[in-house]
Amino acid sequence: MGKFRRNFKIIKFAAVVIKSQIEKEKKTIEIMIQMYCRKLHNPENQICQSCLVLYEYAEKRLENCQFGENKPTCKNCHIHCYKPDMREEIRKVMRYAGP
Ligand SMILES: [Zn+2]
Repeated sequence: MGKFRRNFKIIKFAAVVIKSQIEKEKKTIEIMIQMYCRKLHNPENQICQSCLVLYEYAEKRLENCQFGENKPTCKNCHIHCYKPDMREEIRKVMRYAGP
């Protein structure tokens, strides 16, 4: 029983770590797309429609990331889970706004 409880705690902790890592990447992508869009597309709102689509796509890829717990940052990931046209778009964003 004691052992079970300890494992449970570890699992809970791991879940928090995964979530924050993914949340952090989402935030980073959001900021990069905003910078890129504001400069190149002059949106009326925060970002234009096509950049919004890109952001929502990136968000979904992050949520479905097959690495889960061991997720590397997308920049360093060699499993390219984006479909080709979206990959091209996100590349442009990263080239412009990436660290
Ligand atoms: Zn845009």
